[in-house]
Amino acid sequence: MIKIERKQTDKAQKAIMSLQEAKRKGSSYNTPEVNSALREMFHNKCYICENKQITSYQIEHLFPHQGNIELKYDWNNLFLACAHCNNTKLDKYNPIIDCTKENVERKIAFRKRGYFGIEEELVFEVLDSMPETINTGNLLYEVYYGSTPQKEMEARILRKMLRKELSEFKEYVREYKEAEGEEKEDLKYLIKQQLADSSPFAAFKRWLIRDNRNSFPELLEYIVTIHS
Ligand SMILES: [Zn+2]
Repeated sequence: MIKIERKQTDKAQKAIMSLQEAKRKGSSYNTPEVNSALREMFHNKCYICENKQITSYQIEHLFPHQGNIELKYDWNNLFLACAHCNNTKLDKYNPIIDCTKENVERKIAFRKRGYFGIEEELVFEVLDSMPETINTGNLLYEVYYGSTPQKEMEARILRKMLRKELSEFKEYVREYKEAEGEEKEDLKYLIKQQLADSSPFAAFKRWLIRDNRNSFPELLEYIVTIHS
């Protein structure tokens, strides 16, 4: 989970208008305009797990609406999630961090420890004691490890994707460390892309750079300038 700006784009405006109309008619908030605006805003990523290879997108209410019309049609309450995360969060984790308002990476450290299956451990270290931070940490843990046999299977697939992405990223960083001249610049560019908001599992990648800040102080600028 990373901070995502809820910008006032043309698509967002159209989404808000379609929500007003849906609210008036009592029809679904799941309009084509809302879907299109959410996909653009969240870079086609689930806002909770940051996976991009999603087979089932869902519209998630940050604050469960439980029949509350205002919350149900409020653009600021609508988020793009994958089915796995949406069905894990349900009404169980409330409140969680609003990633369109808070810098999540200042509240939670995302780490993958160990290299091989049995030693591997995902850690979501909460950095303050706010209820929404603690809830988000617990939600992330459940998302990545599952709580039912089906969700455990989904979580395993998710961890596999994360592992693949992170090992590719680490490989770029390793090569970058040894490269010189033009090659080093090319790798720096690739790393910059990997640290961007649109990159899958960006919170884990950025924390890897933070945790190795002494080795790569020059790469820190890509994270600091994004969300200082
Ligand atoms: Zn997800």
